[in-house]
Amino acid sequence: MANPRTLFPFNGGVHPPDHKAESTQRPIAILPMPKRLSVPMRQHGGNPAKPVVQAGDAVLKGQVIGEADGYISSFVHAPTSGHVVSVATMPVPHPSGLDDLCVEIEGDGEDRWIARQAVDYLARTPAELRDILCRAGVVGLGGAVFPSHVKLNAHPLDTLVINAAECEPYITCDDMLMRERADEIIQGILIARHLMEAKEVLIGIEDNKPQAIAAMRAAAHGHDMEVVAVPTLYPSGSAKQLIQLLTGKEVPSGGLPTAIGIQCFNVATVYTMHRAIHFGEPVVSRLVTVTGNVGQAGNLEVPIGTPFGELAAWASPKPDTDGYIMGGPMMGLPLTDMNAPVVKASNCLIARSPSLFPDAPRAMPCIRCTRCAQACPADLQPQELFWFARASNFDKAREYKLFDCIECGCCSYVCPSHIPLVQFYRYAKSEIQAQDKDKKLADQARERHEYREFRQEREKREKAEKHAAKAALAKVVASEPADGAADGADAKKAAIQAAVERAKAKKAAMALNSQGDAVTPEPDKQPGDQ
Ligand code: SF4
Ligand code: SF4
Repeated sequence: MANPRTLFPFNGGVHPPDHKAESTQRPIAILPMPKRLSVPMRQHGGNPAKPVVQAGDAVLKGQVIGEADGYISSFVHAPTSGHVVSVATMPVPHPSGLDDLCVEIEGDGEDRWIARQAVDYLARTPAELRDILCRAGVVGLGGAVFPSHVKLNAHPLDTLVINAAECEPYITCDDMLMRERADEIIQGILIARHLMEAKEVLIGIEDNKPQAIAAMRAAAHGHDMEVVAVPTLYPSGSAKQLIQLLTGKEVPSGGLPTAIGIQCFNVATVYTMHRAIHFGEPVVSRLVTVTGNVGQAGNLEVPIGTPFGELAAWASPKPDTDGYIMGGPMMGLPLTDMNAPVVKASNCLIARSPSLFPDAPRAMPCIRCTRCAQACPADLQPQELFWFARASNFDKAREYKLFDCIECGCCSYVCPSHIPLVQFYRYAKSEIQAQDKDKKLADQARERHEYREFRQEREKREKAEKHAAKAALAKVVASEPADGAADGADAKKAAIQAAVERAKAKKAAMALNSQGDAVTPEPDKQPGDQ
């Protein structure tokens, strides 16, 4: 278990009870295919997918039902064979609690796949591989669900970090994945390393997972990558904190890890890269930990789109269960509707009970104890951010790097006044984002208005110029001879030439007269007279 590698601890962090043993007592189970699945089009970062099926369509497992809309988007697939019942808004797991667009599929019980094709990734260009992964719907399964093909478009790289820390209490799906499918994870890492031309690969796993560490070390043997056991400390699984811990490098404020030559992928994400490349399988299922106040906790392989109620039923919730959380207790989301489906971001379902999750005591005033600052892994001043957010002083909140807050909840966890600090930060962030959006729309509207005025002005000017040119031409035409023997320009030229000739002749005649010859000059003639 010992590491030869020097670690670079980040500041802060907390040690909540981990509750991981409950769900690691049995192997990964396969949840039976539900009769109906509702598959959201928005289950990745960026633009939601655009549905490409309609009610009544027959679909096969793995068939595209939603296409990526733009570069930062991803494809969505049917998790089983059957037919499309509807394309409509339905309950989804989202902090807003609002419904969202889903494709509802009724399975035919046959679970028939589309034709699948393995790819020799060494024979493909990086752009082709990224396209294959985008079309397979590969996104970050650690919770952020950012499209992986976008993150893979950064190379060469100094260090590829594989995030297998899984630091949040209760969640064990990555642990079980590593215990049971370590070889396949390594195959996925080889693909990512090849794509990003990474010089070094570090796989960070918290030291409370000795079986996963052993399995990954055995599988990584001979592949020139290092499995690093890191101390169990929440939130070491946050990308920035894990990068610092493993490399000593800090991701700049507001920047990306690639700015310091590093990229980070969750361990389950690289597993899906392997399935997509070596088996032609898109992401149609994921591992979900089901735990908390239940009779049977464990990890399930669950088709995307399965209602959470089916997972809860599998786990036999105890009678005093009073709610559910999607995700962990520190960063998770309360589920308001158990018909909401499992999505790519769903790593855990926790059944709550009053004894496991007692109500938070009433919040008291801040006593400026600074415990929150000591616990903050992002080196922020949570108490100051709290004041600014509460006073809606958003400029100050920005100045104090509100957007570096990873919403880990360490500050709330240690606050003796039980202030729900993270809720204030989320509120402030959403307000700022809404203001930014409004400002952008207003700027765009102003630019459109200014351009319209400029265009109208230009059209007016061009019209006036055309009018003037037309009038000038009319004047010239009016001055032309009536019979029009030559065109206007030639006629004018000829008239001038004739006038010059007559002037010369007159001068010559006058000169002769002055010498005594009687010469009478002819009257002026026009060219048309000849
Ligand atoms: S821990 Fe709570 S009481 Fe203490 S400074 Fe932070 S917000 Fe205030
Ligand atoms: S939630 Fe934000 S402010 Fe609070 S400890 Fe985490 S990073 Fe710091």
